[in-house]
Amino acid sequence: AKRQGRNTYKVFAPGMDAEEQTRLELEEGLAHAIARDELLVLYQPRIDLFQRSVVSYEALIRWRHPSRGLISPATFIPIAEQSGRIAEIGEWVMRQACRQAVASFGEASVSVNVSALQFRAKGFVETVMRILDETGLRPERLEIELTESALVDDRDQALGILRHLKKLGVRVSLDDFGTGYSSLSYLRVFPFDALKIDRSFVRDIESGDGSLAILEAVLRLGRAMRLRVVAEGVETAAQLDILQRLRCDEVQGYLFAKPAEPEALANFDPVTVFD
Ligand code: C2E
Ligand code: CA
Ligand code: CA
Ligand code: CA
Repeated sequence: AKRQGRNTYKVFAPGMDAEEQTRLELEEGLAHAIARDELLVLYQPRIDLFQRSVVSYEALIRWRHPSRGLISPATFIPIAEQSGRIAEIGEWVMRQACRQAVASFGEASVSVNVSALQFRAKGFVETVMRILDETGLRPERLEIELTESALVDDRDQALGILRHLKKLGVRVSLDDFGTGYSSLSYLRVFPFDALKIDRSFVRDIESGDGSLAILEAVLRLGRAMRLRVVAEGVETAAQLDILQRLRCDEVQGYLFAKPAEPEALANFDPVTVFD
């Protein structure tokens, strides 16, 4: 055992590699991250291409680690899932996001990423109801973003949860659309409000590899099924131009704004980005 500062001991078994040690350290750190006020939520605007205005903000979590600096959710969300902390962290994010929406998003909504384990955890819908009640956010202004991983396995259970959320007025979108295995069958079964096309298609939109054709097809599909289609990862004016010509409903990406603290977004006007 190695002494690690005041009152904390860590066991590094012989043969444990650096990656495993990091994982263990992050797992331990996550246990106190909320209490120590180390988590924060950044927001990225979603812009309606017809109104040219911000219609929603996506909540994206970050961990300000005391020694490792800012840690990406891609690193620590899987650890939170594996160590059984995702429901607690997810609930914290949703509460922050709903409070922020009431405090400073005007009429715009807020969308929150919900991991499969959180979605399936007992009492998820009740937690959503409690947070809406506590914060006073109108349910129509909350959207949850799910990936296919939340919908595989017990479809009846997933459908039950989704229908319950919809009955409350909460909106639901399918994230990372086009990267999974059965997106099309999910569209038939689940009552989504929006599809978020994965950013890999936007990135390759000009490469002639079929991404453009897929985007066109998804937009047609979205219109036929009365779903809003959101393109993520828009970084260039050329990509925006193509998406406007294809009549995409909404865009999100660094071209408009990186995820930022709400204070930094207060003066953001998407109109300056067009033409
Ligand atoms: P996601 O839901 O697909 O979120 C979009 C990711 O793309 C975000 O990364 C965002 O910062 C990034 N992004 C946005 N615009 C651009 C762009 O123009 N170019 C590029 N290259 N990237 C762009 P981030 O914030 O690092 O989040 C990564 C993933 O972590 C998210 O992917 C989501 O799956 C997960 N995540 C983030 N916050 C939460 C949370 O509160 N709960 C859960 N369960 N997962 C979260
Ligand atoms: Ca998302
Ligand atoms: Ca996504
Ligand atoms: Ca993703």
